[in-house]
Amino acid sequence: MRHVLIVGAGLAGCLLAQQLAAAGWRVTMRERRGDPRAQGYSGGRSINLAISVRGLTALRRARLEAEILKDAIRMPGRMIHPGSGGEPLFQPYSHDPARAIHSVSRGALNLALLRAADAHHGVSVAFDRRCTDIDFKAPAATFVDAEGRSEMVAADLIVGADGAFSAVRSAMQRNDRLDYSQSYLGHGYKELHIPPVATGPHAPWAMRRDALHIWPRGGSMMIALPNPDGSFTCTLFWPWEGNHSFASVPHGRAALAHFARHYADALALMPTLEADFDRNPVGSLVTVRTSPWQVGGNVALIGDAAHAIVPFYGQGANASFEDVTTLVDLLAAHGKDTAAALRAYQAQRIPNANAIADMALHNFIEMRDRTASRLFRAKKRIEHALHAWLGDRFIPLYDLVSFTNVPYAQAQARGRMQDRMLAAGAVGAAAALVAGIAGAALWLVLR
Ligand SMILES: Cc1cc2nc3c(=O)[nH]c(=O)nc-3n(C[C@H](O)[C@H](O)[C@H](O)COP(=O)(O)OP(=O)(O)OC[C@H]3O[C@@H](n4cnc5c(N)ncnc54)[C@H](O)[C@@H]3O)c2cc1C
Repeated sequence: MRHVLIVGAGLAGCLLAQQLAAAGWRVTMRERRGDPRAQGYSGGRSINLAISVRGLTALRRARLEAEILKDAIRMPGRMIHPGSGGEPLFQPYSHDPARAIHSVSRGALNLALLRAADAHHGVSVAFDRRCTDIDFKAPAATFVDAEGRSEMVAADLIVGADGAFSAVRSAMQRNDRLDYSQSYLGHGYKELHIPPVATGPHAPWAMRRDALHIWPRGGSMMIALPNPDGSFTCTLFWPWEGNHSFASVPHGRAALAHFARHYADALALMPTLEADFDRNPVGSLVTVRTSPWQVGGNVALIGDAAHAIVPFYGQGANASFEDVTTLVDLLAAHGKDTAAALRAYQAQRIPNANAIADMALHNFIEMRDRTASRLFRAKKRIEHALHAWLGDRFIPLYDLVSFTNVPYAQAQARGRMQDRMLAAGAVGAAAALVAGIAGAALWLVLR
């Protein structure tokens, strides 16, 4: 029986533990935080995530799709709240209304994955254990508990699933020939809250629940995702400095005045804005790229540890789940040759991780700057019409990323090619229009 040590019991770590245990591995998992089962997770005001087809595909393999979808909220489109104070506008994500992303509770998802992993024989999970170092020769990892006692765990394979600030990756960086880049966005994020309401057309939700709400405001924006209890979790994505920034709106009282000017329709739904603004921290947003993703054929990275991306395509967790299924399939395909499986894993995943990192950065500009514009909406309508007409011969980029399992790098290349086609079509149409007008003018003159 091969033995894997997974560092980090987050989304990727728990799914990997479940999948490898199901494939017959002995699994040891160690997590820095406390056990969420002992702390008791209560649903409701938790942070939520958008899960799309890639994530659902992985959850189906773990037989968790139905359980997660039971409490998920479908979002077939985005609702744009214009700055002018005009009526919100619904933009479908796809021409096909059956296609939707799903708002799920991060805590509930993590708990379901942890329970599914721990239900297998041969899985040992321990909490309050922080990984501090890796011995690549053994291979083995050192963990320290809350009392400062240290433990060393050896395994045939060690996987770092320990998030954007991974200790396993830090240890790998001390090896020779590892490329690494970390780039912070000039924007941070802060979460806020819209509570359920007793009355209204969407009660208990204060706004339409079947949409990801966006308040695009040029260089900054707010979004809101619905929760099953009728509340919304809002996230501000504002610059750290300058206009409309966390520096220029430093506390809850200033936020009240700022919201009255820029987010008036939301302010009416946020009775706890001042307190929430003061209490909730501002988080940073980082893109991490690293290569290789494995060292020595027996230590590898997965999820945010390998590729932290900004959240604007809602794909970080989805991509992490894809890492898991790819790695599990390759370990099965390569039998006892773990090193070959890890080489194939990084060869497949690194280009795709880089592609979604780029697309996520690009989508931030689209969400905050373009979603409110007429030109953007017209382009989306043309894309949807072409998709409806041509089927699989024209699939808009958003559909490719969110509603298919087409590898991200292929989706990105295809999206660029389709954009060039649309641009050429627009130039052709404009030229035909000009020629038509010129022809008509000539006819009027000569007749
Ligand atoms: C604001 C925001 C919104 C997002 N929205 C979405 C979305 O809508 N859709 C989506 O798909 N993705 C979204 N993401 C991204 C998503 O949260 C991550 O991609 C996902 O959580 C990655 O899972 P992971 O298991 O790799 O890392 P994590 O979820 O970070 O888990 C890592 C685990 O490792 C543990 N750990 C860390 N260090 C150590 C150590 N030294 N020793 C032991 N354990 C350790 C941590 O405690 C944690 O439990 C969002 C991210 C942010 C910041």
